[in-house]
Amino acid sequence: MKERDVVVIGGSAAGLTAALTARRHYPSKRVLVVRREEQVLVPCGIPYIFGTLKDPEKNVMPDAPYEANNIELLKADVTELDRDKKLLHASAESVRYDRLVMATGSLPIMPPIPGFDIDGVFAIQKDIDYLRRLFERLQAAKDVVIIGGGFIGIEFADEIKKMGNANVTIVEMMPHCLSLAYDDEFCVEMEEVLASRGIAIKTAAKVEQIQGRDHVKSVLLSDGSEIMADAVILGIGAVANVDLAKKAGLRIGLTGGIAVDQTMLTSDPSVFACGDCAEKISFFGGRPSGLKLASIAQMEARIAGANLFGITRQNYGTVGVWSTCVGDFALGTAGLTEAMARQHGYDVVVATVEGPNRHPGGMPGMAQTKMKAVFEANSGVILGGQVRGDTATGEMINAVSAGVQKRMTVEDIATFQIGTHPALTASPVVYPLVNAAEVAISKMRGRV
Ligand SMILES: Cc1cc2nc3c(=O)[nH]c(=O)nc-3n(C[C@H](O)[C@H](O)[C@H](O)COP(=O)(O)OP(=O)(O)OC[C@H]3O[C@@H](n4cnc5c(N)ncnc54)[C@H](O)[C@@H]3O)c2cc1C
Repeated sequence: MKERDVVVIGGSAAGLTAALTARRHYPSKRVLVVRREEQVLVPCGIPYIFGTLKDPEKNVMPDAPYEANNIELLKADVTELDRDKKLLHASAESVRYDRLVMATGSLPIMPPIPGFDIDGVFAIQKDIDYLRRLFERLQAAKDVVIIGGGFIGIEFADEIKKMGNANVTIVEMMPHCLSLAYDDEFCVEMEEVLASRGIAIKTAAKVEQIQGRDHVKSVLLSDGSEIMADAVILGIGAVANVDLAKKAGLRIGLTGGIAVDQTMLTSDPSVFACGDCAEKISFFGGRPSGLKLASIAQMEARIAGANLFGITRQNYGTVGVWSTCVGDFALGTAGLTEAMARQHGYDVVVATVEGPNRHPGGMPGMAQTKMKAVFEANSGVILGGQVRGDTATGEMINAVSAGVQKRMTVEDIATFQIGTHPALTASPVVYPLVNAAEVAISKMRGRV
């Protein structure tokens, strides 16, 4: 039987980050990661296996950080956790721990739609062999239906389109794709880009049944229409993988994740949890949150890993920051959209600005960048922002997220010192985030 100071279950975004953090904060401790896969996929890279990388092997996380950081790796399935004995059983081995981190992630939601188990219907499992089979299936597919128009659905749609000549249709229940994270005007722009790339979109459409006997043949919508399909992809979200935690009697939260406090400690004082398997609360008001993102997983893992033998870090809740792109068209979101902020009950001031991301605008590589920032009307604190632009969008939205997390006000942002360069950024005179704050200040003073 092995005995280790720190054992982490799970070797993806949360597990590896928790182990690396434990190593940095506790150099003398023996750290072991147990994970079930031989090779771990880069989860966010999965859609790009299909049209861009063209091979699941090219989307694998390297194991080099384990050896480089003196972290032991055991490739085995943990089948049982005995919390009284601080012991876990992993395939043929048993391991005793002093501190345990649960980073068991999530599993794709399987909807209660008749026919979801027919051959040719795929959920997005983070499993290399499964994705190899999906890749082969999609290479031969003529009609592909994607159920769910969130970021995974649209990224898959575009990548499948790149593979060849399949007819690709996204079916989304909400009035727009991406509408859980973007205000309508951004969603509409993305839908136009998808349509321009030959992707059909059916919004406000409910799937009634997936049809076919031996193989999938079509998808029936509740309005009676039928879409031909020889492959169907389910991209409708994920649920926390908590089987092991439940069996071990750890407390489970309202959204189905392992209950944790702000230090990422579970109901057991020796067990921490982080990533998709852990329950989350929103940064805005502290209500339970169903968000599951790699950005949240690694933040929680840095907190769990640092707190293992003494609390130093705290989780203030999920802001929800991420970006997506289709071709050169990128969208980023952080915090609350205008619609969400109003639903939360905030009185808001909204500022939208648009301009070139180079100065002068004739510089090579110029792209128009739009930023919408949402501020609380009374305090002027930024609640969220959305960006539409080019590849710089991914980093711009991270700056917005910093402002949200630090509860910066319109005045803080208007006087924020931003670095600019003609070939790299927008003009300092109209830098989007700063400019949006100035516009919001004018609105708050009733000048506009
Ligand atoms: C297609 C796709 C695209 C995405 N794109 C983005 C993106 O662009 N940006 C973003 O922020 N997020 C994205 N996400 C979400 C992101 O991938 C997840 O939030 C992230 O993977 C969570 O990491 P995790 O380590 O908590 O869980 P997981 O990645 O689910 O990993 C769980 C780990 O635990 C292991 N495990 C579970 N049970 C056991 C057991 N009993 N024994 C041993 N090992 C076990 C698994 O094998 C795995 O190693 C995407 C997700 C998908 C599916």
